[in-house]
Amino acid sequence: MIHFENTEVAFSHKSDKDLRKAYFLFKMMASNCMVKFGKTMTNIAIKINFPIGWIFKSTIYSHFVGGETLTECDKNVNLLAQFNIKSILDYSVEGENTETEIEKTLDETIRSIKNAASQKNIAFAVFKPSAFALGNILEIATKKTELSETERKQLNIFEQHIDLLCNTAYKHDVSILIDAEDFAIQDIVDKVVLRMMEKYNKQKAIVYNTLQMYRWDRLDFLRSALELVKSRNFILAAKFVRGAYMEKERLLASNNGYKSPIHDTKENTDRDYNAALKFAVENIQNMSIFCGTHNEHSNRYLAQLMQENNIQKDDKRIFFAQLYGMSDHISFNLAKQGYNVAKYVPYGPVKLVMPYLMRRAEENTAVAGQTGRELMLIMKERNRRKNVQKKSIK
Ligand SMILES: Cc1cc2nc3c(=O)[nH]c(=O)nc-3n(C[C@H](O)[C@H](O)[C@H](O)COP(=O)(O)OP(=O)(O)OC[C@H]3O[C@@H](n4cnc5c(N)ncnc54)[C@H](O)[C@@H]3O)c2cc1C
Repeated sequence: MIHFENTEVAFSHKSDKDLRKAYFLFKMMASNCMVKFGKTMTNIAIKINFPIGWIFKSTIYSHFVGGETLTECDKNVNLLAQFNIKSILDYSVEGENTETEIEKTLDETIRSIKNAASQKNIAFAVFKPSAFALGNILEIATKKTELSETERKQLNIFEQHIDLLCNTAYKHDVSILIDAEDFAIQDIVDKVVLRMMEKYNKQKAIVYNTLQMYRWDRLDFLRSALELVKSRNFILAAKFVRGAYMEKERLLASNNGYKSPIHDTKENTDRDYNAALKFAVENIQNMSIFCGTHNEHSNRYLAQLMQENNIQKDDKRIFFAQLYGMSDHISFNLAKQGYNVAKYVPYGPVKLVMPYLMRRAEENTAVAGQTGRELMLIMKERNRRKNVQKKSIK
């Protein structure tokens, strides 16, 4: 049975000063008022061009973000690597979907794929599909069966962008994760990504699709995707997450009068998440698994499934992953025991990753249990270090 309680291992990469900073950060994020206040002040500061970068850079930014550029992330990539943890550098800038912005993100993502190819401590490249679509073409293509000439052209351009990224990854032998976003666009994204898998996953898992298991239809989707890959002879590479947009999806469904795509209860989401892991492990000869979760039980369960199915801890087909700055007790303890572990490390200019940081702050406030858990672990480690110091003085 795998344990995550060892805080000495969990925070081995953090100095006392880092821990003190992390403690204050999570303490602030535990307060709804502080997060709301911080968000309002940040928005005002950005509007009036007040230079706030320096405040963020040394606090919330340095905790959750790897650096402003790929090169600036090297230090953190190397630090994680010392503890057997790989990195996934995620360009977390959310811009407008104009042609110019799309081109910029495309160039940066290609640079990140090549950078991953050149560094053994970077395990995957990653991107958000919506960043490569003009306007709301993905939503239109998911909803409509007949597209106009212009819409068809826009959709083709989207698919060409995705193909360019997957092809670059394939040529450089880098696996690439395609994030899942809104329900309203996922159907067309799934179709395109399955086509990419068929093209590039013949020998090994290069292209990974993301399955949000808070959706009640995903287990069926998983089963039919497996049938497809078996009949066409390629590998189904799946990144399993619970899903990040629950409130928004429920609101959209109720405002627009359709059945919510999200499970009614957390228990049902948990049940499907774990069932998907079991299904994937039992079909590992046709699959690769990327388990993106901060849920202790699901991480433990995957480790147990691997053991039951005689799969080596470092089998290349299975990766565990958490976000940089969160759930280090899971990542560092799993890595110490020899499992494949990676951290999603966001990067980008301070001002441009602000929306990402605000989401992390809100998420940590909303997921009260998670913040409480981070705080409790940090306190435990600070106390342990104090006791060790006291003993050594005696
Ligand atoms: C490496 C990594 C990559 C990720 N990539 C993506 C991505 O591509 N797309 C994406 O959407 N998210 C992504 N996420 C975020 C993820 O979907 C979750 O929002 C986040 O990880 C919290 O879920 P959990 O499994 O870690 O933990 P838990 O705390 O066990 O679960 C919280 C999650 O359970 C679900 N949930 C909570 N309450 C209810 C309820 N009442 N009814 C139904 N379901 C409920 C929600 O999904 C919520 O986020 C990623 C996370 C990680 C660690």
